[in-house]
Amino acid sequence: MSHVLAAVAWPYANGPRHIGHVSGFGVPSDVFSRYMRMAGHDVLMVSGTDEHGTPIQVQADKEGVTPRELADRYNRVIVEDLHGLGLSYDLFTRTTTGNHYAVVQELFEGLYRNGYIVPKVTMGAISPSTGRTLPDRYIEGTCPICGYDSARGDQCDNCGNQLDPVDLINPRSKINGETPRFVETEHFFLDLPAFAQALGKWLDSREGWRPNVLRFSRNLLDDLQPRAITRDLEWGVPIPLEGWRERGDKRIYVWFDAVIGYLSASIEWARRSGDPEAWRRWWSEDPAGGPAAYYFMGKDNIVFHSVIWPSLLLGYSGEGDRGGEPGGLGRLNLPTEVVSSEFLTMEGRKFSSSRQVVIYVRDFLERYDADALRYFIAVAGPESQDTDFTWAEFLRRNNDELVAGWGNLVNRSISMAAKNFGAIPPAGELTAEDRALLETARAAYGSVGSLIEKHRQKQAITEAMRVVGEANKYLSDQAPWKMKDDPARMGTVLHVALQAVSDCNTLLTPFLPHSAQKVHELLGGTGVHAPMPSIVEVEDLDGGPAYPILTGDYSTGARWESVPVEAGRALAPPKPVFRKLDPSIVDEELARLDPAN
Ligand SMILES: [Zn+2]
Repeated sequence: MSHVLAAVAWPYANGPRHIGHVSGFGVPSDVFSRYMRMAGHDVLMVSGTDEHGTPIQVQADKEGVTPRELADRYNRVIVEDLHGLGLSYDLFTRTTTGNHYAVVQELFEGLYRNGYIVPKVTMGAISPSTGRTLPDRYIEGTCPICGYDSARGDQCDNCGNQLDPVDLINPRSKINGETPRFVETEHFFLDLPAFAQALGKWLDSREGWRPNVLRFSRNLLDDLQPRAITRDLEWGVPIPLEGWRERGDKRIYVWFDAVIGYLSASIEWARRSGDPEAWRRWWSEDPAGGPAAYYFMGKDNIVFHSVIWPSLLLGYSGEGDRGGEPGGLGRLNLPTEVVSSEFLTMEGRKFSSSRQVVIYVRDFLERYDADALRYFIAVAGPESQDTDFTWAEFLRRNNDELVAGWGNLVNRSISMAAKNFGAIPPAGELTAEDRALLETARAAYGSVGSLIEKHRQKQAITEAMRVVGEANKYLSDQAPWKMKDDPARMGTVLHVALQAVSDCNTLLTPFLPHSAQKVHELLGGTGVHAPMPSIVEVEDLDGGPAYPILTGDYSTGARWESVPVEAGRALAPPKPVFRKLDPSIVDEELARLDPAN
């Protein structure tokens, strides 16, 4: 058994998340974590909501609430949505905790001590009429990169590039339209070029990464520039240096703080577990060969996980060009693998909440089952290329594959056994066909498991569904309903079919945990088969306001192995596990999607 960190991208808390978000970071990381636990690894799956930065401040200003109030609202919405999807976080927390502030400041100080954070004088904007600092978010102008005429001082929403207000063409104040004056101001920069060599060595040693992620990351090393890690903003983690800590107008930049969340959440989890040092098992080198750390995100976030976060870890550990000593948390491990997914589009268009090209997780779960979405994401999600979500395809996958394939196998084999025997019948002598099906199911543990380990979930679930198809074919070929005059043979066929159902259920458990629990119970099983997360209201460990976390005990539940079904175990007639959807949902959903239609 080894220690496996599943570090999942932090959703930004400026609104509810849509299914595009959870198809990139949420479901794939949960499938991986569930499988690794079933296979006997000690998994720590952490994340939380990312709550600082300009967009939250801007939206709070617009709504007349504080940024904290806005973050509180969407933190709760996101926690509830991820809970609804059954995502098995050991800890899903947030970046506004006392613990997170302390860990971010510890990393800043460690990097600063080792010489990797340097002050630099840059040009900052002030309002000529008031003489006060004009925060980046209140400056707009034309993007120097793409020409978009309403780019913000810190970022262009059109091309997505990070900007500096001084780069804008025709900059103007969003408050009163005046042209800001630029004066010298001091900020801190992360000396990224000092990590180019160490990053190159590390990237060269990576194995098994998706080739596009590795290529993209290597290319980034050719043009590393010092990167500002503080900003003119009031909402964020204070700068932990003498003379800066008390300043109200400068904060640590949101990307610097959010990426440290993986570490701070691990530490928070350990503090809550009663062993405050327990996090080290997932973060410190272990001579025995572990631990491993997998980072899950969408492709727009690769740079933060393959360049910036490793740089922070190297710098804090004293392993960049400037050397240095590890800080108080000790030497910290770099990612084993950066697992990035591509984008999901919606009916051929980019998700956009302002243009109503969207379906939020909550709305989805009000109308459909979590496993129906999890199935779609696993079998047709944006694993290695951009993928389109269409309601017609969702309907087809649900009705033809989940309901008519897997649901039908479960339903007809259990009903027939319940009706004719009232229990799992014993098996008599096995034929070559019986043995072949049992062998196919057993062999799939190896193939499906190794595909999930390699982050090829689409192939993995296709392989599991292939076994479902074989079992359905076996039932049709054997036709046990025609064996009324040979109950012993009918019993054997149904025994073999129920064994295949049990095996397919285990193979599908990482993907479809809600229905896996139901199938387990239909087979007469008791206890927890697929553990679920719960929402717990907790106190901030360092005196801040209370908040909800997602957590759970995942130590029980099925193992990744074939368990013989027990002859004589009572069976009740099954209730359908999946819901067949009416084709009219396609038009209903399309009408919702685009009210102009
Ligand atoms: Zn632009």
